[in-house]
Amino acid sequence: MLNMGRPNILVIPFPAQGHVMPLMELSHILVDRGFKITFLNTEFNHDRVVAAARLDKNDEGFIRMMSIPDGLDVGEDRTNLGKLSDMMKDVMPVYLKDLITKLNASKNVDDRITCVLADVSMGWTLEVASKMNIRRAGFFPAAGGLLAMTLHVPKLIEAGIIRPDGTLNKSQMIKLSPTIPAFNADNFVWLCMGESAIKPIFNLIVRNNEAVNLAEYFICNSFYELEPSIFKMIPNLKPIGPLLASSRLANFWSEDSTCLSWLDEQPARSVIYVAFGSFTVFNKQQFDELAIGLELSGKPFLWVVRPDLTEGPNDVYPDGFEKRVAGRGRMVGWAPQREVLAHPSIACFVTHCGWNSTMEGVSTGVPLLTWPYFADQFLNQSYICDIWKVGLRLKDDDNGIISRDEIKKKVDGLLEDKGIKARVLKLKEIAINNVSKSGASFKNFEDFVNGIK
Ligand code: UDP
Repeated sequence: MLNMGRPNILVIPFPAQGHVMPLMELSHILVDRGFKITFLNTEFNHDRVVAAARLDKNDEGFIRMMSIPDGLDVGEDRTNLGKLSDMMKDVMPVYLKDLITKLNASKNVDDRITCVLADVSMGWTLEVASKMNIRRAGFFPAAGGLLAMTLHVPKLIEAGIIRPDGTLNKSQMIKLSPTIPAFNADNFVWLCMGESAIKPIFNLIVRNNEAVNLAEYFICNSFYELEPSIFKMIPNLKPIGPLLASSRLANFWSEDSTCLSWLDEQPARSVIYVAFGSFTVFNKQQFDELAIGLELSGKPFLWVVRPDLTEGPNDVYPDGFEKRVAGRGRMVGWAPQREVLAHPSIACFVTHCGWNSTMEGVSTGVPLLTWPYFADQFLNQSYICDIWKVGLRLKDDDNGIISRDEIKKKVDGLLEDKGIKARVLKLKEIAINNVSKSGASFKNFEDFVNGIK
């Protein structure tokens, strides 16, 4: 395909689904705006994405898929983010520098990188680009509220809440402003991934906080009305969301799009959509309780049961479950979530409150039932239930289990709540206006595009 004269942006996500996804969406939008994209995954994720998309070459139109090693051995556990972060920072900068040097020496001018668009969770990429005198933009993949909390860490150290090595000194709720939910210091990501992950992830985040200053443009997937005080606190952070582009070439698992024709057969606003993102893991007891809760709800449901959703084999449903819900319940390994949420049959979304899922739910006007698993998902839950008031919390019982009765009760309560429905539809309208011509996110995106062109 001819790509003469297109500026080539090197896009670099952190190697996790919730980071690759929005950066790929952004890449598709940038292609529409006349750019060429070189999308750089780790080798491990590159292979997954290419296999899931069933690509037979690494160049899809104006998006060229490339990869470098992450430093871990073949077969090592990449969900151990502590070890992964530690290895990446030692190994990847060298590979990145070599790659940019090679591309920029290419005889083909279109191969040459004109700008790096980096996930700020990979702050070291901005350091490499800066040293090589390449233009730089940063993308923050979560709530602006989380960035504010993270930038606040030096003050938390001064206040003795966090120790200088990242460990927690005292558990405390942090409240930065009335429109930002209180955040429990225990939920900082480096404190949620086991003892050995504290140091490497904390160090990475401290470094990212510095590296952000190297970005000439700093954008995020949010919009002003969602978190107004954040954009006053961090004036150089510009919201460009909601991202509504294709996520083609971003999936770690192959999408099962047959669920869309199944949704076509369901009555309008009848289906409970249940999905917990890419990371959440259930124990068998909670998995069974959820299954029975969905059955008890008496409503049609579409449930994403990722191949690694449970600790053990997860195609083992409670006795007779599949038979009893046949026709009414549909389980898939990975759904085209954006299309699912926009489908008129969807009534509500049981979500783990990952930021991408939160934005997708809000921008499609779907009421939310919140079931956070860890880290910033609790912050997003508070945005949903306490600040925007577009969802209800699922609460666990004394044994730490979200029971079948709680699931049924909250589904019924949510679907009867006209206030929540009205508010989420209003938020959807605000979201869509933001990315239409004359919207604030659209304008921020224009400024960004014109700046890096
Ligand atoms: N997703 C999807 N299909 C699924 C489940 C999730 O495409 O069956 C997408 C979802 O639309 C979102 C991303 O995966 O864009 C998950 O990101 P999120 O921030 O919600 O959660 P994380 O995986 O980071 O915990």
